[in-house]
Amino acid sequence: MSDTPSQNPSPIDPAIVERLKDYQARTQKAQERADKVAVRLAPELQALLPVRGADETIERTKQVLDAVETVNEAATAPINSEIECRKGCGFCCHQLLLVKVGEALTMRRAMKKLRRAARREIETQAKAQLKMLRRAGYQGSQDWKNQPKMVQLGDAARTAGLPCPFLGRASQACVIYEDRAVPCRSAFAFERNLCKQHYGFQGKPPQTQYIEFGVIHRTEKFIPGDGSLIPACEVVLNDRFDA
Ligand code: SF4
Repeated sequence: MSDTPSQNPSPIDPAIVERLKDYQARTQKAQERADKVAVRLAPELQALLPVRGADETIERTKQVLDAVETVNEAATAPINSEIECRKGCGFCCHQLLLVKVGEALTMRRAMKKLRRAARREIETQAKAQLKMLRRAGYQGSQDWKNQPKMVQLGDAARTAGLPCPFLGRASQACVIYEDRAVPCRSAFAFERNLCKQHYGFQGKPPQTQYIEFGVIHRTEKFIPGDGSLIPACEVVLNDRFDA
C-alpha cells in the first residue's frame, strides 16, 4: 500500500530545506496567534478543575478539547489553504501517543460505542504496539517520568512504524476522531509528502514543516488527571479506564 510509512525513505531534497525556513517563520506566527487565544481561555479552563468522578472528568475533558479547537482555528485561519492535513492521511498517527487520565477515559468511552469489529481491530493494533514497546524496554508508567527512556521509547515506536491503535486500517482515519486527545489536535503539516517520508524510520521528522502549538503546554494541563501519562495501547487494553 503506497500510503503507509516508508521503511526506506529517500534523503530530504535540499530544496525542501529552503522551504522549511519559510514554514518555520509562518509556524512562529501561528504559534503567536495560538498563544494569545490560549492565554485568554486559561482562567476559564482553570475554573473547570478539580473534578470528581468519571462522568465529570469526561465532560471537563471535552470542554478543554473544545478550547483546543478554538485555539487551532485562530492560529490556522490565515493559512488554512496551505495546510495539507486531511482525513485519510494518517502518517502522524504512526507514532507514540501519550495521554492524560481525562483523555484516556474519554477515548475509552468512545471506543466502547464502536461496533465489535472495529473494537477488535483496535485491540489487535494495541496489542502489537504494547508488544513493540515491551521489546523496546517499556516497563510501566514510571517510564513516562524518565525523559531519556521516554525519548527512547518514542524513537522505537516511530522506527517500528506501527499505527496508533485508534487509526482505522482501511480508512487511515481516526475512528474516535471527535474524542481524540490534545496531542492529536496540535500539529499541522505544510507538506503531506514529508510526513510520508519521515514516519516509520529511525530519525526525527523535520519539525519545522509543522505548526505545533504551545497549546499542548498551555491547555493540556487543564485535562483532568493525576499527572500520569498513558500510552494509547494501555488506554485500549487496561480496563481501569472504563468509566
Ligand atoms: S487517537 Fe486518533 S488522531 Fe490520535 S494518534 Fe490515534 S488515530 Fe491518530
